[in-house]
Amino acid sequence: MLNKLIANTLPYMPKKLIWIFSKRYIAGETIEDGLKACRELNQQGIEVTVDLLGEFISTIEQAEENKNKYIEIIERFTSEGIIGNFSLKPTMFGLLIDTNICFANIEEVIKKAVEKNSFIRIDMEDSQCVDSELDIYRKFQQKYPAHVGLVIQAYLRRTKNDLINLSEIHVNGTPLNFRLCKGIYVEPKHIAFKTYEEVCEHYLDDLNFMLDNHMYIGIATHDKFLVDSALNIIKEKNIDKTKYEFQMLYGVTPELRTSIVKQGYKMRVYVPFGKDWFGYSTRRLKENPKIASHIIKALFFRG
Ligand SMILES: Cc1cc2nc3c(=O)[nH]c(=O)nc-3n(C[C@H](O)[C@H](O)[C@H](O)COP(=O)(O)OP(=O)(O)OC[C@H]3O[C@@H](n4cnc5c(N)ncnc54)[C@H](O)[C@@H]3O)c2cc1C
Repeated sequence: MLNKLIANTLPYMPKKLIWIFSKRYIAGETIEDGLKACRELNQQGIEVTVDLLGEFISTIEQAEENKNKYIEIIERFTSEGIIGNFSLKPTMFGLLIDTNICFANIEEVIKKAVEKNSFIRIDMEDSQCVDSELDIYRKFQQKYPAHVGLVIQAYLRRTKNDLINLSEIHVNGTPLNFRLCKGIYVEPKHIAFKTYEEVCEHYLDDLNFMLDNHMYIGIATHDKFLVDSALNIIKEKNIDKTKYEFQMLYGVTPELRTSIVKQGYKMRVYVPFGKDWFGYSTRRLKENPKIASHIIKALFFRG
């Protein structure tokens, strides 16, 4: 209840106050801020995936603008030698306005990534976007297999079936590349599993399926139980370290992150930055009020 109340009133609080809560989770507003955060992580032996924060868009011009910003970001971050790749949300490229234009925008961004020998991860958004985001992945995986990956949400009831279907598109030597996460959006019960136990059970089931089907996996979680379970599965199956990595969000559970890095596993941190951090923070908090309590905690416990 309290989380919900806090989350709902956040958009009306002064921006400066929200920044105190948000700065632990967002690298800043500018490309320079993003570069600084990425360099610091790289120096700790951690790779990054860079995300430009965006508000919901309502015009094709805004989609075009976002495409150009991403192209500039890829140019800058690769030329500065940042070790990492890029994540994008298709709705920022016009997915809910015009699918064809969205596909064309994303292809231009992927082409830039190909030119710079980099990689684009298609983030998975709420359930109304899942079919189109699977289509985007299917289309571009065939054309640019080593340069594009998708996010899989373990909480969706449909996911195992999607994975089985996706496993059939594997036609060449490059493994399919997925980030496996729980899923962050509030979905109805007929679409998503709701309890912690159910979500974890399906997360591990999906992980097993992906490992058995030679997919590359970004194990994206801050949940100690899932990290430990994933490591047990990896050891039991004797999976080579080149076949997976761990992924976490910027500023979240740094102790767990360090302990994974110290054990010699590859870690990638999702680094969001951009002028739209305010809308992003408050919307995310409304979507998942549980996170409000983490943000409140972050005010008191630093580092
Ligand atoms: C790299 C990455 C990319 C992602 N991409 C997507 C995506 O494309 N689509 C999508 O739907 N979801 C995405 N997510 C979000 C994901 O679906 C989960 O909602 C999120 O990771 C929380 O789940 P968890 O597995 O960490 O477990 P939880 O049970 O939520 O968290 C485990 C523990 O981590 C800590 N923790 C979690 N969140 C926070 C926080 N904000 N602040 C402080 N501590 C925290 C707490 O100690 C908590 O007990 C992504 C997550 C990561 C790590």
